[in-house]
Amino acid sequence: MTKTEIELQGIKFPLYSLNTLIVGSGAAALNAAVRLHGLGATDIALATESWEGGASRNAGSDKQTYYKLSLYAGAIDSPRLMAETLFRGGSMHGDIALSEAAGSIQAFFHLVEFGVPFPHDRFGSYPGYKTDNDPRQRATSAGPLTSHLMVERLAAEIERRGVTVFKALPIIALLTEEENGEKCVIGAVGLDAAGASAQHRGLTLFNCRNVVLGTGGPAGIYAASVYPESQTGSHGLAFEAGATAHNLTESHFGMASIKFRWNLSGTYQQSIPRFFSTEANGSDERAFLNDFFPDMGALATAIFLKGYEWPFDSNKIRGGGSSLIDLLVYRETVVRGRRVFLDFTHNPEGDRRTGSFSLDKLSPEARSYLERSGALLGTPLERLKKMNPSALELYAGKGIDLSREPLEIALCAQHSNGGFKASIWWESDVRRLFPVGEVCGTHGVRRPGGSALNAGQVGSMRAAMFIARRCGEQPRDAAEFVASAGPRVLERLETAKLFLDRGDSGQRAMERVLSELRDGMSRYGGPVRSAGGIGGEATRAWTRLARLRDSAGVRRPEDLALAFKALDSGLTHALYLEAMREYVRQGGRSRGSFIILDAGGEKPNPVLEDQWRFSLETEESYVGRNVLEVRYEGGKRVARRWVEVRPIPGGESWFETVWSEYLGDEIIR
Ligand SMILES: Cc1cc2nc3c(=O)[nH]c(=O)nc-3n(C[C@H](O)[C@H](O)[C@H](O)COP(=O)(O)OP(=O)(O)OC[C@H]3O[C@@H](n4cnc5c(N)ncnc54)[C@H](O)[C@@H]3O)c2cc1C
Repeated sequence: MTKTEIELQGIKFPLYSLNTLIVGSGAAALNAAVRLHGLGATDIALATESWEGGASRNAGSDKQTYYKLSLYAGAIDSPRLMAETLFRGGSMHGDIALSEAAGSIQAFFHLVEFGVPFPHDRFGSYPGYKTDNDPRQRATSAGPLTSHLMVERLAAEIERRGVTVFKALPIIALLTEEENGEKCVIGAVGLDAAGASAQHRGLTLFNCRNVVLGTGGPAGIYAASVYPESQTGSHGLAFEAGATAHNLTESHFGMASIKFRWNLSGTYQQSIPRFFSTEANGSDERAFLNDFFPDMGALATAIFLKGYEWPFDSNKIRGGGSSLIDLLVYRETVVRGRRVFLDFTHNPEGDRRTGSFSLDKLSPEARSYLERSGALLGTPLERLKKMNPSALELYAGKGIDLSREPLEIALCAQHSNGGFKASIWWESDVRRLFPVGEVCGTHGVRRPGGSALNAGQVGSMRAAMFIARRCGEQPRDAAEFVASAGPRVLERLETAKLFLDRGDSGQRAMERVLSELRDGMSRYGGPVRSAGGIGGEATRAWTRLARLRDSAGVRRPEDLALAFKALDSGLTHALYLEAMREYVRQGGRSRGSFIILDAGGEKPNPVLEDQWRFSLETEESYVGRNVLEVRYEGGKRVARRWVEVRPIPGGESWFETVWSEYLGDEIIR
């Protein structure tokens, strides 16, 4: 990488020229850097808005899961079988499913080699357990902080290899040019807060042949969120560059604590805490779940099952399924404006109709689980302590004492299954732009727990293989770069100046819009949707984006990145809602982790009001057989397209044939 300076309209900007810029420092971006370097593509650098930020480094759960091919002695598995599991999730392309399955072992052992402590037995077998949507015990875990450990080890490797890292340099634009009718990435603009008072406002330019985009999920568009605060996402960057996204309708929502954002799966539910709600001021405490379950056995078992069945699932609401609890939490918090808490000091509180709590009323499966865990104990706290002692320490570390205070919860956004579409080498339809990790939406409607981390590792590995093999050119000459990139750089500079001119009033206006946008997304584009709600919110989203463009500002030059991020979130919000609007326009109904309220549907529970009726989508329907793509065209209009789901390829299994293709350099293409 070389550093020079260029001059545009008399203003000097720092310019870095290199082969590949990697954006972000989550598990996917870091892996891309390690892989590229390992493959000899050493002319690289990584720029992240926050070295300590992101979901991989800061999120976790009871037993954070990593999904891969089964590896324990006696397991029967194959890339094809695993691809079928991924593909069965719906709306996932088969070639991507096969690539993620086939690459899972290589990606997993790469992490093992760097010291991520995935448990194995004395003979070297890696035992697995069954996770959501998984028929074959493919899941493994390094504990509650699996992704954090991955980041730690990959970051250490990057440092050991001496890869250049810009640890606090948000990227605020991707630079593109048109080549033979195709868009191609040619660089990026970063924003260096330290230079924000200078004439160039801290704009730092990258002239590169490839950009690996590992900016994570679109966390900044939700009010109810279990993403760490440091993660906001930057989908707007790729939308502005013209990349196509797909499956934006599909996300995961689930119960999480909100004072300290943490996913309440596993033992937090298996210990069967008491759920209660209150008015906003803490008055009028109610055991709000009781009315909706036939008896205490059914209620307590549904709470227990939330441990295994963490994401809200439209298929698990009816018949007193565990997702009825999520729906009731949503009803209390979003619709009724109340607060919901988990109390680990008391068992669920029964009434005359449900009867009182007793472990003997649990389903045989739930009771035997607690028995085998030595947790047939008197209170949720005792059961939690027995099954997961570190759970209490974790909350204590955040100033929350579960033995004294109840935990406030909400139904929160956790993961975007959809994102930017990519080839089997993780190249987007903007050439040389490689979205990896959560920003790359390889998943469909349902996915096995842990497959997000696998997809991030396999995708970044394959992108690195492709770049190292096919895209290793020297960076362009600076003059050539400036000729293409100059206008966009100057536009960013003008925008930065506008943000500063608007100062305090601009910042207040921006914060108001962002808060409306997040509330609107959680209310209308979250786990519970309706055609009218989505349509209204999509229209408001464009108005908000216009307001942000017209009024966003910042008080201090060092905060310029906040305003660029606000525009990014505004655009991301609008395009997610446009995808939802198109989905309902095509007649799409409830599926995966959302329901679409529908007066013609069935009531999910006899006691719930009529407004909660919904119908389930089928895989044979139009929206089941096709994948919805969305693109922001020319920075103006939204293009929508339904494409048929690609099947899992047969693949060539004859060794001599593959060998000959391999030797003939026909594989990585
Ligand atoms: C509570 C919780 C529990 C989860 N549990 C599991 C699980 O058990 N199993 C599983 O597989 N998945 C799980 N997930 C999902 C998984 O953790 C994430 O999908 C994954 O970690 C995302 O990794 P990533 O590298 O794509 O992005 P992240 O780790 O989110 O990193 C994104 C990076 O991009 C940077 N960035 C963003 N915008 C810019 C910009 N403009 N310029 C520069 N840098 C930028 C950020 O600072 C950050 O460093 C969970 C997620 C959450 C929130």
